[in-house]
Amino acid sequence: MIKNQKPSGVHDLIAANNIRLPKPALSVSADNNPNAQTLIYAATEEPFASVPHARQTDVDQAVANARGAFEDGPWRKMPAAERSAILRNVSTLVKKHAEELALLQTLETSIPVQQSKSMHVPRTAENFTFFADIISGLAGESYEQTGRYLAVVTRDPVGVGVLISPWNAPLVLASMKLAAGIALGNSIIIKPSEYAPLAVLRLCELLEEAGVPRHVVQVVCGTGIEAGRALVQHPGVDIVGFIGGTETGKNIMADAARSLKKVGLELGGKSANIILNSADIERAIDGSLLGIFAGNGEQCLAGSRIMVENDVADEFISKFTARTKALRVGDPFQDDTEIGPMAFKAHFDRLLAFAETAQVDNSYKVHTGAQAASGFDSGYYFAPTVVETDSNQAELCQKELFGPFVTIQRIKDLDDGIKRANDNDFGLASYIWSNDLPSVMRARRELRAGTIWVNTPMTRDLRAPFGGFKQSGIGRDGLPGSIELFTEEKTTLIPQEPLLLPKLGSS
Ligand code: NAD
Repeated sequence: MIKNQKPSGVHDLIAANNIRLPKPALSVSADNNPNAQTLIYAATEEPFASVPHARQTDVDQAVANARGAFEDGPWRKMPAAERSAILRNVSTLVKKHAEELALLQTLETSIPVQQSKSMHVPRTAENFTFFADIISGLAGESYEQTGRYLAVVTRDPVGVGVLISPWNAPLVLASMKLAAGIALGNSIIIKPSEYAPLAVLRLCELLEEAGVPRHVVQVVCGTGIEAGRALVQHPGVDIVGFIGGTETGKNIMADAARSLKKVGLELGGKSANIILNSADIERAIDGSLLGIFAGNGEQCLAGSRIMVENDVADEFISKFTARTKALRVGDPFQDDTEIGPMAFKAHFDRLLAFAETAQVDNSYKVHTGAQAASGFDSGYYFAPTVVETDSNQAELCQKELFGPFVTIQRIKDLDDGIKRANDNDFGLASYIWSNDLPSVMRARRELRAGTIWVNTPMTRDLRAPFGGFKQSGIGRDGLPGSIELFTEEKTTLIPQEPLLLPKLGSS
């Protein structure tokens, strides 16, 4: 494992890069305000910012503002072309402030800065242009077949939406639902993760600068159990769009059910990555490394359960392990870093507990890692980990670990792979590597997952639905799921000429 140089102290880093903390965050050097979330830089464990927790009165005010903007403001009535132009302004501003957004996101998540710059920020900009295009082309339906009536189906915005987002890719994840929600005329309140609110706060400042009217977008900061729950339970909220863990998703759905809010849930994953004898093994190794180690492995769609067919298993495992050992773990602000520290201490400790399981339970064979990365005096650095096991029922194959930690199972054939892949509570994605078309087509048909990646690591077409089978979620991002979540269908029936009506009560 190649280590980068020691990371800079966080306050020097902020000064050297001229990073401005967005409001209401304040710069701090001590972790001592019980009414605020202290953000800790994961590379050095230093506190650097403090963000006040919203109270119930702040939540009530945000919902009242959002309702006012929806009922009385210009946004929902604005012609689609004007709304679309404002969304394009947002995209332009995101590109203009790309460096600043990328630095903020890396500061709060420790996603390697190159990945924040080359993947996360461009995709954030694209999310706004994508929905600008969608609303420009949105059409209703009409039916003329019944008698002499014209039935017209149109879509109205729903009202006030709350978006609750996780810490692992704050910009991309929050902006996809945010862009959809406002493009379709709703008012949106975002509750970003308490661990990573800064990039989302800055993005929302840019929305205002781009011309999104006041209170159409607001950010409420705080913990999930207080601010998040207060928003989900609030009677003035109509939609809850949630991205996060499966257990949280279940609680949110139960809370939202009390007032029958619309919900969209994008939850956890434990995606199978099947490599058959017929695969191009070198490509499969490259793709599998990206599939598990991009974004520090803290990705819902990570290919975290590798299943490799017996004849190629030795070659795959030895080459994959050698490349894993060579990953550059280190300072997330160095351009050549491939894996940064884990985002925060509780998450790092959770991974260390799974590492301990791999070390002490002899049903696992540790090929590399399963411990903290060596050579760091401080910081939440976890060694990229490859663990082999026979049993798909093993805890490390069933639970979402959400880090640079992959399990490998040897499989007899494709049937064995499909059976193991589907033997899991999650169903977000699956990967299949093979140059045999019938095998690929059968895997595509049989795998129970919302997205199947064939001979490729993750890639998205924003038009295509993205979401999970089973406990990986309810609903889809993209088309038509985003439109369904953020609009209500309305049917209007109009007689095309005065029709004879029965005259009740006449003699
Ligand atoms: P989490 O569920 O702990 O928290 C997500 C958000 O929910 C945070 O903003 C948190 O404050 C809030 N929250 C927590 N409890 C709440 C409650 N009772 N009511 C309202 N809000 C509450 O998840 P996390 O640790 O931030 O993120 C990691 C998880 O997110 C992983 O399981 C990952 O797979 C999942 N994820 C899914 C997708 C997807 O597209 N399917 C994308 C990214 C992450």
